[in-house]
Amino acid sequence: MAHAKIHRDRSIEASDLAALSGRTIAVLGFGNQGAAQAANLRDSGHAPIVGNRDDEYATSAAEEGFDLRSIADAAAAADLALLLVPDEVQPSLVAEQVAPGLRDGDTLVVASGYNWAFGLLEVPAGVDVVMVAPRMIGAAVRDRYVDRHGFPCFVSVERDATGRAWDTTMAVARAIGGTLGGAIVSSAREEAALDLFSEQAIWPAVLDVLRTAHRVAVGAGFTEEAVLNELYLSAEPAEVFAHIARDGLFGQLGLHSRTSQYGQLRSLAALDEHGDLATRFGRVMHEDILSGDFAREWSRPDAGERLDTLRREADATPLAVAEAEVRARLDR
Ligand code: NDP
Repeated sequence: MAHAKIHRDRSIEASDLAALSGRTIAVLGFGNQGAAQAANLRDSGHAPIVGNRDDEYATSAAEEGFDLRSIADAAAAADLALLLVPDEVQPSLVAEQVAPGLRDGDTLVVASGYNWAFGLLEVPAGVDVVMVAPRMIGAAVRDRYVDRHGFPCFVSVERDATGRAWDTTMAVARAIGGTLGGAIVSSAREEAALDLFSEQAIWPAVLDVLRTAHRVAVGAGFTEEAVLNELYLSAEPAEVFAHIARDGLFGQLGLHSRTSQYGQLRSLAALDEHGDLATRFGRVMHEDILSGDFAREWSRPDAGERLDTLRREADATPLAVAEAEVRARLDR
């Protein structure tokens, strides 16, 4: 069994200031993660400048009292830049506006492993590249820093040009509150692969289960209202997942009736865990994700159009049409 090292400590402000002291920090992008991480850095005793395009995000950064600059100016001023713009924007933004301002000894911090893992970021050779990736949405990164509950995050050194990249990584993780919940040592490759695996194997399987269950149950003569509420409109699955996180996959079974427990476990035991699903998941992990095929496909210029087509097709499925009707009737 492979285990990751976890760094956890409750001190945010005091510890390991050395790796960041005297260094100019820039938060590039003031969206979900950028706004939260900039505020956390400031409350941890740093004075990050913010780089953003001139729009309402920029206005709110200025209103919150941050030193606001263009992305290129902030990157040029920074010794350490946190790249907090959407993943699909990063390759061109880094090439055109960030990399030209980076100097030997600087650090680029990514919050997701995707672009680095698949070779899509061109960063000058003398620059450290590290990952500090919260496993939490931006608003909660801020709230959980303020209330000191913390959130887990993945950390890694991807390129250690200075020999000091690990200390920098841990200092950034601490300063944004990432060690309160546990900084798990990972890698851009692992973070990106698991994210993509969840998106391309697990969730499509869940969506397929719901789509198939809808077809079979409606085909058996039951009403759309009853079927869709049983499947997910009641939000009962969300409750079950919350309990799975708290009490464990099987630990939460005690919350269900004994009839339910027997039905679930008997049916699970009858499934072949090495069957078609395992074959499909293995193919997604190795042939689509780790091979780089998916990243190449998603980088193609027409990928956005293909996504729009897939969205339109999904919205036209019998399940989506029935759901819209039931929602309207239930006033949701
Ligand atoms: P957002 O979509 O919230 O970021 C928006 C920010 O990026 C805004 O400041 C926006 O500025 C700027 N931006 C968008 N497009 C451009 C562009 N073409 N050029 C310049 N600036 C642009 O991103 P997130 O905060 O969600 O994600 C940032 C990083 O954090 C990503 O790597 C993501 O994978 C990672 N992450 C996100 C999590 C989340 O919960 N959201 C969780 C963990 C990691 P403008 O006002 O100009 O549009």
